[in-house]
Amino acid sequence: MEKYVLKEADLQFLRSQTAEDDYQKLYRFNQTLVNTIPYGVGVVDGEGNILFLSKQLEDHLGKPPIGSKCWDLYRDDKTQCLYCPLRKNIKVGETRTIESSGVFGGKIFQITHTGMIFDGKKAVLEVYHDITEQKKNEEKIRILAENLKTEKQKLEKVLSIDLRMRSIRKLNDLVDFVVEKSTEILEADRCSLMLLDAGSNELAIRGAKGLDDEIITGSRVKLGSSISGMVAEESCPILVKDIESNVRFARQNRPSYRTKSFISAPIKAHNKVIGVVNIADKKSPPGGPFSETDLSILCTIVHLASVAIENADFIRQLTHLSMTDSMTGMHNHRFFVRTLDQEVSRSKRYTTSLCLLMMDIDNFKSYNDTFGHLEGDQLLKTVGRILKASLRVTDVACRYAGDEFVIILPETDVSEAMIVAERIKKAVETSLSNQKTTMSIGLAKYAVPHMSKYDFILKADTALYEAKKRGKNRIHCFE
Ligand code: GH3
Ligand code: MG
Repeated sequence: MEKYVLKEADLQFLRSQTAEDDYQKLYRFNQTLVNTIPYGVGVVDGEGNILFLSKQLEDHLGKPPIGSKCWDLYRDDKTQCLYCPLRKNIKVGETRTIESSGVFGGKIFQITHTGMIFDGKKAVLEVYHDITEQKKNEEKIRILAENLKTEKQKLEKVLSIDLRMRSIRKLNDLVDFVVEKSTEILEADRCSLMLLDAGSNELAIRGAKGLDDEIITGSRVKLGSSISGMVAEESCPILVKDIESNVRFARQNRPSYRTKSFISAPIKAHNKVIGVVNIADKKSPPGGPFSETDLSILCTIVHLASVAIENADFIRQLTHLSMTDSMTGMHNHRFFVRTLDQEVSRSKRYTTSLCLLMMDIDNFKSYNDTFGHLEGDQLLKTVGRILKASLRVTDVACRYAGDEFVIILPETDVSEAMIVAERIKKAVETSLSNQKTTMSIGLAKYAVPHMSKYDFILKADTALYEAKKRGKNRIHCFE
């Protein structure tokens, strides 16, 4: 590089200029040094004595006392150690650029040093470029680039699950797949997938990750209540960054949640909400809130799941699930009530007989107490199988509640119903002789045409009560 010797005109300029002038003239003065707006200029001799500071640098670093060393100005920074050898060794005309390592005076500078002659002595011209904003922007750009990269990866993952999702044929498998993929892609610890039970208008958890088993089996949410219930009712996805400061849900973060942010999206099939997916406890960045992109990703996954549900025969399975007792695989209480309704109407219309058996396992409490609840559950399943095996195709056996079962016997009069009841009582007694288990049965006949469905059930229940009262393992018919 060509050697440059400072002229008197240059010195005058250095002494008199404001930053704007600094820029205008310095730019011409030393094109090689200046490629951004300089913050100011200084001249220091080989020993670090300040010979000149432009006004802006003075304002920023403080006016140096006469004869002071330049590092007196940089006290908050280790820059002096870096610059001293440089100032000593730099040749006249040589240029070196250094970035101030720390922040000094609240700013980060890029300092270009040029060896020169000043007042006949070797000195260093230092041009300061304020790169604080640039550095901040660089950091922002770096984070943005990083986020874009991870978000792009997430989107690619979402697209890759589409094909897989379409090939799933069973609702339970689909539920598990959605839970697994949503938590994986959204880097979250917690997920629950709830499906709407059309009969009771309640959401029940069908798949989950990071939740206690107790919560999974116990929690049912009414449509419109609690957060999932609202998301389902309004059919609108939500992103909550901080539950405690959220205007809508403002409430204390529950201790079981690690973070205060969550996202939820409704699952729709054939334009109707059939469930909700909730994601919480984001892992990366740790504790960080979910973003708008996260919510879009969840909505995309849920949308793909909805398409799969619509395409496959899941709706039928959903209906089946809502009508089935999950433990015994028998029809449940809801199915019983619905079927009884239909049979009562039929009986009224055609004046055919209709009977109802209500039965209850004898001393089941002590069976549970003796052998434990798991064995108790096994016994309930066995009873369910025995009932099914003892019936005609037109009879409908349901688990009513706990250890109570009901059987609807269409077009059956009392004497025929009695035969069925005897057959059941006997089958239970013989099949479960090892378990010493018996059953009491109440029988009721529907009285055409005025009896309500509830009175009919009550009649069978009263008969069952009577059978118990008279010593159990027997059948009693309501008179
Ligand atoms: P009773 O002969 O008068 O019918 O007496 P019981 O001991 O059978 O008493 P009751 O029918 O009133 O009680 C039923 C018990 O069944 C109460 C509860 O502990 C148990 N139970 C209800 N549901 C379940 C279940 O799903 N699994 C198991 N293992 N036990 C159940
Ligand atoms: Mg009982």
